[in-house]
Amino acid sequence: MTNLTNYIALEDCINRHIYKIYSRNLEYGVFRADTSGFIGIREKFSYEYLFEEYHHDRGSPFGTVYPLEDIGILPDNIEVREYTDHGCYQCGGSINWDRDLFEEQIRANISLNDKDYVWPWICENGCIRASKKISIYELLFDYLKEVKEIESFRPCEF
Ligand SMILES: [Zn+2]
Repeated sequence: MTNLTNYIALEDCINRHIYKIYSRNLEYGVFRADTSGFIGIREKFSYEYLFEEYHHDRGSPFGTVYPLEDIGILPDNIEVREYTDHGCYQCGGSINWDRDLFEEQIRANISLNDKDYVWPWICENGCIRASKKISIYELLFDYLKEVKEIESFRPCEF
């Protein structure tokens, strides 16, 4: 386990500020006060996406981030979130996951191929077998990508 003592405490972290961090998967992250989390770019199997890890002071096993330095504030027009919600894949309308229905069918051992099975995604426009379309929130992704590039030219102090 890491034994970093010289990190920025949770109570000193400021909403929407970008930090250079030491964590499991991220190098930089925007602090989200609501969740005590940091959203940054994670790379896995050469695929990059936005991912959130949480401040160390939240305790283990989920507190994995040690903020090292405040490197700036996110521009006002960029929101602190990981995904854009596009709604229903087929029509773009509002869509909801009926969790109760989903769990009820699992308990009753009703599966996809049974004639009694009811699709748990409900589209407001009644699309058959609807599902939700989401994508990476590009404004934040692109901004963090730029931060990483700019920062990589700066001499490292840690
Ligand atoms: Zn639809």
